[in-house]
Amino acid sequence: MNEQEKIKLLADLVAIRSVNDNEEAVAEHLAAFLGKYGIESEVVQYAPHRASLVAEIGTGHPVLAFSGHEDVVDAVGDWETDPFKLTEKDGKLYGRGACDMKSGVAAMVIAMVELKQSKVPFNGTIRLLITLGEEVGEFGAEQLTHQGQMKDVDALVIGEPTGYKICYAHKGSLDIKLSSKGKIAHSSMPELVNNALQNMLDLLTLINQQVGHVDITDPETGKFLFNFTVMNGGTQVNSIPGTTTVELNSRTIDDFNNEKVIKIIEGAIAKLEKSDPKYQLSMDILMNLPPVDGDKNNVLIKLGQKFGKEVAGQDVTLFGGSYTTDAAKFLADKPNDFPMMIFGPGNKTLHSSNEYVDKDMYLDFIEIYKKIMQAN
Ligand SMILES: [Zn+2]
Repeated sequence: MNEQEKIKLLADLVAIRSVNDNEEAVAEHLAAFLGKYGIESEVVQYAPHRASLVAEIGTGHPVLAFSGHEDVVDAVGDWETDPFKLTEKDGKLYGRGACDMKSGVAAMVIAMVELKQSKVPFNGTIRLLITLGEEVGEFGAEQLTHQGQMKDVDALVIGEPTGYKICYAHKGSLDIKLSSKGKIAHSSMPELVNNALQNMLDLLTLINQQVGHVDITDPETGKFLFNFTVMNGGTQVNSIPGTTTVELNSRTIDDFNNEKVIKIIEGAIAKLEKSDPKYQLSMDILMNLPPVDGDKNNVLIKLGQKFGKEVAGQDVTLFGGSYTTDAAKFLADKPNDFPMMIFGPGNKTLHSSNEYVDKDMYLDFIEIYKKIMQAN
């Protein structure tokens, strides 16, 4: 495939407005593209207009999976170019998703096609797991994992934008919604007025005492983080609020993980409810992604470093990430030393306006992925 064709695939993907929706169009486009080169794939429906894609070449073990997501974040902010039209300027390709992570997806699809075309023999199976809904909820990765697509996988590459660096571990993420209900007071018994907001503050105080000031740092992925992020309650200054809700996000680490945070909150709710029947508190877990523990000495990372250096001409260093990825869902049932790496074209412009990927880096990753596939 020539350079123009490689850039065209990325441009076609960027042109599809898959802003946490409409991923089916990406899946269908990739299915047609792979089909042109004799690679069969399966579009896995999740909801109307929302689908993931699974494709593979080869047979048997080892099964090496490459994964990327189809969705992008909204293109708000000040763009100098049309965010949904891939635009080249000074060796950079601008567009929403150019970096996060349609270039990674395009690179792995092209690497697979070129490997097949080259007829160079390789071991086992190369499987593409292209997911919907990564930016919110990681529903695609969850669905594919439930379907058993990870069961026989021996190693996993996630093509999120790291540039010429490999992320081998990352934090977990936990979103929780707390609710407080006040009791309707009898109009003749004002002493039974039950203030849902006041009760919520008691809960927040109790939680905050145990989690709000935790200062633990994971040597790989950094500091444990806990933040109340949304608060709603009450309608006017002289009325007692009947309901109050609060949302919180925690970026978790091994030594202070999702379960621990959930237990503390459950404990606080139970304690208050036992102390006084006026408390009617509940929690909903909106998102629960565990930290991903990596083994920085795994064989896959060695290959990534070797071929990264070979192709890009620079040392490929390792780091632990503060974000979360589909790996949290894919690796839910895998051991900590499961061979996984996050390694893909891109830079720090992800999610920002004027997002871009260096053209050379995009083309490099096609070569790097192909070499990793061949070394399977
Ligand atoms: Zn991403």
